[in-house]
Amino acid sequence: MSKGFRPTQVLFAPTYECNLRCLPCPQKQGATRLRIKTARLFLGQYHRLGIKEIGFTGGEPFLYTGFLSALSRQAARYNFRFDRLMTNGAWFKTEKELNVKLREVLAAGFTGTFCISVDDYHKAPLSKIALFIEKAVELTGWTQCVSFAYIGDINKIRKLAILLKGKIVGNGRLVVSPREGFVGLSAQITKIDLCPVGKAGKLADPWGKKWFKEDYCQGPGQVLYVSPDGAVKPCCGFAADLPAMSIGNIYHDSASTIIKRATKDPLLGIIYKQGLLKLRDVFQKNRPEERLAPTLDRCFLCWYLQVKGVRKFL
Ligand code: SF4
Ligand code: SF4
Repeated sequence: MSKGFRPTQVLFAPTYECNLRCLPCPQKQGATRLRIKTARLFLGQYHRLGIKEIGFTGGEPFLYTGFLSALSRQAARYNFRFDRLMTNGAWFKTEKELNVKLREVLAAGFTGTFCISVDDYHKAPLSKIALFIEKAVELTGWTQCVSFAYIGDINKIRKLAILLKGKIVGNGRLVVSPREGFVGLSAQITKIDLCPVGKAGKLADPWGKKWFKEDYCQGPGQVLYVSPDGAVKPCCGFAADLPAMSIGNIYHDSASTIIKRATKDPLLGIIYKQGLLKLRDVFQKNRPEERLAPTLDRCFLCWYLQVKGVRKFL
């Protein structure tokens, strides 16, 4: 497995604002918004450094459609590949608002997918999500323009499938057959683990009997995640919002400064090159009185070690 921090994507969280208040939400709600001009400048710098993929997350990104359109327009001009836009699919007040804003983002050149979290923790009404999906399929003409993520059980996605007149195939896809005026849907479904950090701290017990298999964070840990206050983090994992994970800020640092700082950062050096289990060992060596039980949740461990101040031992 290749190791090291080599980001391949810029992932913007344009705003912390959201129309929902989900219990396990890792985000702090608030009115902070990324400045479009600065974000565009930053995207241009990354383009010159060879990063060619863009995604959006939140908060709810559609509450700041102007940002989505401006950055999508620029990314399309640079020939970026569009990855996922995370949305709750229920951010609009009227069908007209849905229609106008979705058209605006697509017209700006966004060609990625819309990933919607559908489970008991996300309180968005299914009727609104169904409307969002039907409109997204209609406007893109693309059967795979939507995907789903869920925590816990899949029942709410099953109910959504009924509403859409479709079905779940295995546990992996929600499929709706084509019909007059609708090209059909084939949406990937992914289960994600509840990470018991922050407000979700009491919802699950992260400790168990086995340790996770080391992966040097080669999945969610290879992005430049830009939070609404401009802080840049090396991943979109559940520890990303901790100040200890910050590798710069787009309001003060150039893209190359941020990358250089990340490659020299001792905490990231251990996580990405020697592994998170090595960071655990460093912590245990310095805090032998605190014996950690095993956990399968690597982002939880990452969060825990940083909250316990592992940085000061490096
Ligand atoms: S929809 Fe997403 S951003 Fe909004 S409150 Fe729920 S988890 Fe947080
Ligand atoms: S383990 Fe830490 S660095 Fe890796 S993806 Fe999770 S939060 Fe990010």
